[in-house]
Amino acid sequence: MPGPLEDIIKEKIRENGPMSVGAFMELVLGHPEHGYYMKQDPLGQAGDFVTAPEVSQLFGEMIGVWAADIWMQMGRPEKFTLLECGPGRGTLMADMLRATKKVQGFHDAACVHLLEVSPALKEKQAEALGGIEVRWHEELESVPDDCPIIVIGNEFLDALPFQQFVGEQERMIALEGEALVFTHDGEIVEKSPARCKFVWDVCARLKAQQGAALFIDYGYLKSAAGDTFQAVKGHEYVDVLSDIGNADLTSHVDFEALACGVDVNVCGPVTQGAFLRNLGIETRASMLKQKASEQQAETVEKGLHRLIDSDQMGALFKVIGFTHDKSITPAGF
Ligand code: SAH
Repeated sequence: MPGPLEDIIKEKIRENGPMSVGAFMELVLGHPEHGYYMKQDPLGQAGDFVTAPEVSQLFGEMIGVWAADIWMQMGRPEKFTLLECGPGRGTLMADMLRATKKVQGFHDAACVHLLEVSPALKEKQAEALGGIEVRWHEELESVPDDCPIIVIGNEFLDALPFQQFVGEQERMIALEGEALVFTHDGEIVEKSPARCKFVWDVCARLKAQQGAALFIDYGYLKSAAGDTFQAVKGHEYVDVLSDIGNADLTSHVDFEALACGVDVNVCGPVTQGAFLRNLGIETRASMLKQKASEQQAETVEKGLHRLIDSDQMGALFKVIGFTHDKSITPAGF
């Protein structure tokens, strides 16, 4: 039985002809009523996928230390915007804030802003960050531009739409009878003007307001050809054209393209494993284990390895940093 979103997409194709991969992704993820991110909390064991902050508290703690170091390098501005893009369940921000409690002046200076479109996840974020004053935005434009800014985004960019090309032709989704099919077979090249524009807009903010940005995602250090369009449901890969609106759609992020043409200081990309090791995640894990029960210590150890080992998240995931100029040297690169 096709769901309501599948019917909407087929109707659009019948009316307007084949639909681009980008338009398809935007609808499937962001349709106001039936879109994947609009309906549910997709994260965690019971959901469709598990992200780094959900794997271990070590992840958010390291990013917290990273942000506090940037703030100190900037001369401890009295007020700054701490913006997280696509905060999921709010776990990363909660861990960042807990880890930086003792950094004198940091919490007083930080105004927490969250960029989020999902009503279900906004609720989770409010719960996770209870007691902390938080403002939500659906667009970068409405985030304050009157003070320095530190921007974080984990697995945010991959949720923004991308396009596929075969030669000069854009790969589209068409109808063959009642079945959705791809047009154009051949070597596929992916491009994402939406991801590049988002990063450019953030970099323009850094230039105008001063500050730094950090994006973590799975993808390539160097641009490469290949089809990376994927759908994940219940921790399994599924067909991208089936169960529409009930599986997460993403593609790998092209980090080389992200850094192309930006007018700020670029750091990396490096692998997540290298980044977290450089920030001292192993030392932090040892400290946690000393104070923990045997079972807790095992959880810390497992989480650590899942985050940094090359056959886990350590190599597939990459990290890129941006600062307004070279006077700030972000840790971890
Ligand atoms: N950073 C979180 C969640 C990653 S999932 C974590 O690491 O656990 C992607 C997140 O981006 C979700 O919170 C989703 O609702 C949000 N998102 C997706 N598209 C968005 C858009 N266009 N604008 C703002 N948020 C978006």
